Amino acid sequence: MHMTRTNGFRSVAVIGGGPAGLMAAETLIGQGVRVDLYDAMPSVGRKFLLAGKGGMNLTHSESAEAFRTRYGARRAQLEPMLDKFDADALRAWVAELGIDTFVGSSGRVFPTDMKAAPLLRAWLHRLRQSGVGFHMRHRWYGWGEEDALRFATPEGERKVRADAVVLALGGGSWARLGSDGAWVPLLTRLGIPVAALQPSNCGFDVNWSEHFRLRFAGHPLKSMALSFTDTTNLRHRCQGECMVTAAGIEGSLIYALSSQLRDQLAATGVAHIQLDLAPGWSLQRVTDEVARPRGSRSLASHLQSRVNITGVKAGLLREVLTPQDFTDPTRIAGAIKALPLNLTATRPLDEAISSAGGVVFEALDQGLMIRSRPGIFCAGEMLDWEAPTGGYLLTACFASGRAAGMGVLAWLAAGCPNNSSMIPAQ
Ligand SMILES: Cc1cc2nc3c(=O)[nH]c(=O)nc-3n(C[C@H](O)[C@H](O)[C@H](O)COP(=O)(O)OP(=O)(O)OC[C@H]3O[C@@H](n4cnc5c(N)ncnc54)[C@H](O)[C@@H]3O)c2cc1C
Repeated sequence: MHMTRTNGFRSVAVIGGGPAGLMAAETLIGQGVRVDLYDAMPSVGRKFLLAGKGGMNLTHSESAEAFRTRYGARRAQLEPMLDKFDADALRAWVAELGIDTFVGSSGRVFPTDMKAAPLLRAWLHRLRQSGVGFHMRHRWYGWGEEDALRFATPEGERKVRADAVVLALGGGSWARLGSDGAWVPLLTRLGIPVAALQPSNCGFDVNWSEHFRLRFAGHPLKSMALSFTDTTNLRHRCQGECMVTAAGIEGSLIYALSSQLRDQLAATGVAHIQLDLAPGWSLQRVTDEVARPRGSRSLASHLQSRVNITGVKAGLLREVLTPQDFTDPTRIAGAIKALPLNLTATRPLDEAISSAGGVVFEALDQGLMIRSRPGIFCAGEMLDWEAPTGGYLLTACFASGRAAGMGVLAWLAAGCPNNSSMIPAQ
C-alpha cells in the first residue's frame, strides 16, 4: 500500500473527538507521528460536557478487583487496558491538567468543581500545543478509492489519506451530540462483526394508569430497593433512587440493573421487578405498624404516620393494590415491601446514558486493530462492552483510547505488517 508521509512523519487520522479519540490522539502525538483529529460536530467532547452537567463522575475509588467486575462478560478484554490506565492513573492524569478530584461518599470520583468544561478546556489546549490538528464539521462516511477516508464537510467532500486510522465514534445514544451509530453499517458492510447497539444504563416503560402518570411523572422515588430475578435465576437487589417518568421509570437504581433487565425483556418480553418502599424495615415490622388501630384517621394518614408512606410511594400502592387489598394490612405491608411492577420495554437507545454492543473484541487484536483490516483501530464506547454508571464508562473510554494509540505506535514501529488491505474496497 502507498504510505502517505507528511514532513517525514507517519500520519494518523483519529476520527471522533470524545474522550476515547482525544486520549488516542494524546498517546500518539509527540511520538514522531502526525495526528489529525476529525469530528462531525462543530466542536469535540459534547457528550463529555453533557456528562459534566449532572456532576462529572470520572472514575471510582473501589478496589481494582471490584472495579473490574463492573465490566461483566468483557472484563477479560478490558483488563489489560485498565492495568495500564486504571482509576489511579486517570486521577493522576487529571491532576496533571491542573484539575483536583475528590472521592464522594459513594466512592465515586469527581473533579472538585464537578464540571467537565475546565478539564476539557485544559486538555484541548495541551493537545493543540502538542500539535494535534483538529478538523471539525468533518463527517466520516467510509473509504473511497485506494486508501482515502471520505469526509463530508461544509465545503464538500474531502478525501484524506493516513498511515493508520483510529475510529472512536462513540455508541448510539444522544445522537444530537454526535454519537449517532451511523458508523455501524460502514463497518458491517465490510464484514467487520458488530454486535447490535442496545440501550444500556437506560430507563424502562411501565404501563402507568393515566391518573398516576399525570399526577406523579417527574417525581423522585428516594430510599428504595429494587429486587429482580434474572434469566439465569439469579436474584438481584439494589438500593438507591429512581424517578417516575411519563413513560415508566428511570434513574441510577434502575440503571444499575439495566443490562439484566434488558436481557430479561429480550428473553421473555417482560421484566418483573419488586420495589421495596421501606428498605430499612422488616416485613414483620411494616405489617405490625400497618395493622395498628387507626381510629378515625384516613388510611393515607395512617400509612404516612406509621410507615412513612406518602406522596409518590402512596401513589404506587394505589396504582397496584385493589380496593379489596386495602382492607387487609398483610397485603398492604406485602406491597410496601415488594411492590410488583412489570417493565414492558427499554426506553429508546437515543435516551440511554450509554450503549451496549459495538465492534466485537474477537475481531480485534491486542492493540485494538481490526484483524481483517490492518491499520484500522477502534476505541471507546463503539467497542462491544458495557458497564454501569459510576465512572466505569469514562475510565474504559480513556483506557481503550490509550490502548488504541499504543496499538498504532506498535504497529507503525513494526513497519505496518500485512497492511496491503488497510483501506478496504467498498
Ligand atoms: C447524560 C450522560 C451523562 C453521562 N455521565 C457520565 C459520567 O458521569 N461518568 C461516566 O463515566 N460516563 C458518563 N457518561 C457516558 C460517557 O459520556 C460516554 O461513555 C463517553 O463519552 C463515550 O466516549 P467515546 O469517546 O467513546 O464517544 P463519544 O464521547 O460519544 O464521542 C464520539 C465522537 O465521535 C464523533 N463522531 C461520531 N460519528 C462520526 C462520524 N461519522 N464522523 C466524524 N465524527 C463522528 C462524535 O461527534 C463524537 O464527538 C454519560 C453519558 C450521558 C449521555
